[in-house]
Amino acid sequence: MKSLCDMKKKKAEALIKSVSHPKFICGKCGRLIDKKKYLCKPKKIDE
Ligand SMILES: [Zn+2]
Repeated sequence: MKSLCDMKKKKAEALIKSVSHPKFICGKCGRLIDKKKYLCKPKKIDE
């Protein structure tokens, strides 16, 4: 599966909107998501 970072912008944003409590941020793209498998450089968010 492609990472979220490689998806078309619209599709990626739709997916991100469904995530209300992101746990990971992409260290390269800055995207937020709750599953690190969607990111190319996932980093855990410490709250
Ligand atoms: Zn990325």
